Parts: sequence; structure tokens; C-alpha cells
Amino acid sequence: MTKLLIDKASGKDIKFDIGRDDVDKVTIGDKKVMISGPCSVEDIDTMRLICKRLKEIGIHVLRGGAFKPRTSPYDFQGLGEEGVRILHKVSRENKMPFVTEVMDARHIELIEPYADMLQIGSRNMYNYTLLKEVGKLNVPIILKRGMSATLSEWLLAAEYILKEGNEKVIMCERGIRTFENYTRNTLDLNSVAVIKTKYRLPVIVDPSHGTGLRELVPTMSLSAIATGCDGLIIESHINPDNAISDARQTITVEALKNLNDKIKLMENLLNN
Ligand code: PEP
Ligand code: MN
Repeated sequence: MTKLLIDKASGKDIKFDIGRDDVDKVTIGDKKVMISGPCSVEDIDTMRLICKRLKEIGIHVLRGGAFKPRTSPYDFQGLGEEGVRILHKVSRENKMPFVTEVMDARHIELIEPYADMLQIGSRNMYNYTLLKEVGKLNVPIILKRGMSATLSEWLLAAEYILKEGNEKVIMCERGIRTFENYTRNTLDLNSVAVIKTKYRLPVIVDPSHGTGLRELVPTMSLSAIATGCDGLIIESHINPDNAISDARQTITVEALKNLNDKIKLMENLLNN
């Protein structure tokens, strides 16, 4: 195989800032970056409350889906452009960068001028047209692993983005489909260990989609940190049972605070 841009042999480990000039930036690759918020943006009041609390407990980046890839076309599809406006407003009020999913290349012009980071969802990891388009941008991209993608397919998807010139790629392990169906997906922490050993991209873990069960989120988060990931993306809400999507895997902001405190302790331990 040809030498890849993402190979450790091709250069230094990739580190970059997340956040535009009007928010508090955070550097991925330096410390564990914590990204959290609801699965979907629901309304401005809820989003404002969540964002304020997340900032207070020390979360670095806000997440929220405005364009939602739902399995059923009859389920809530997201607030679209209005959702992006809400994210932008509350994130600026709290000086917190935000990430949101871009599902279609035609939506880039609606989202990119506002968002601090774009997410390519699991279902779009194989959308090479979209990968090439985000490769032309200068904003960081979270590239989620396709739910049935091998590690090499996922790495090559990242290579598509780098090849176009955008090196700001964060790999996100979010679980894969296996014969196991107790959990929503099987969180493959092997992939994190491989990426940290052989490739120069930062990698984060999504224990929410990786398990589908909120009671497993803290344990799998700590396991991911121990594996050496560069951060976590976790679904949280002020009232998880009422979350409009992915309620079962969403944790309270209080549970997140507790987890975040443990992560900081672990981080200190690992750095010593
Ligand atoms: C999400 O982040 O809410 C989401 C839809 O994730 P995934 O693409 O990993 O399923
Ligand atoms: Mn979700």
C-alpha cells in the first residue's frame, strides 16, 4: 500500500485548536477534550440551559444535532438551519465552541460559517463526495467510524479528507455492529490503541452510541481514557428521559460532572 498522510512516518502527531476567535479554544492532542450536549437540538431554552451547565462543569465543546440522520423517516429529523442558529447563539453566550453534524455536501454553506467543528456521522463515513468537500475546508472535522467499517476503511476515509488539504481530522470510535445485541453497538477500543500506535491523528471515543445504555457510559468513558484516547463525545441533557432522540443513552449533566472529575484525576495519573 502507498504511504499514507496519516502514517506516523509521514510527520508529527497532528494537534490543532478547536474554536473560532470568539470562544474559548481547546487544543486536541494536548489534553483530554470533553465534548458533550444532547443528541438533537430541541429548542433554544433547553439548549441554553444545557450549554450554561456544561460550561460550568468544565466541558470544552458543545455538541448538538441540527440535521439528524434518523433510521426512520417518521422520526424527528432535526431543526435544520434553525438548530444551527440556536447552537451558534448559545455557544457564543457561553464562549464555548460547538460541533454539529453535516449530512450532505449541500448543507456545508449553511453550517460551516457558524460551526467550530463539523461531524461526519457513522452513516456518511463512506460518502466520498462529502469527505472530499470537507477536505477543502479549514475547520476541524470529527470523522465517526462507519457502523460496519473495518479499521482500514475508516482510516482511508480520513485519508480522503487529508488528501484535499484539511489535516484537522479527529477520528471517533462510536462502536460497530457485531453479533452482540445487548448493547446498541460494540465499542471497539482496540481501534483506539491501533490509531495511537500507528497513526498521527487524534482519536476520541463516543461511549453513548458505543453502548446505547446510559448506565454503561461512565465505565466505558474511563476505559477509553485508560486506552489513551484524546477525548470523549458524550450525549448529555438536563432531563435525559425527555430527550427527543437517544434518550436511553443520554446521561444527566450531574452524572457528567461526576465523570469529568474522575477523568481529570485519571489524566493527572497518566501524565505522571
Ligand atoms: C450522533 O452523534 O447523534 C449520531 C447520529 O452519531 P452516529 O453517526 O455515530 O450514529
Ligand atoms: Mn445520538
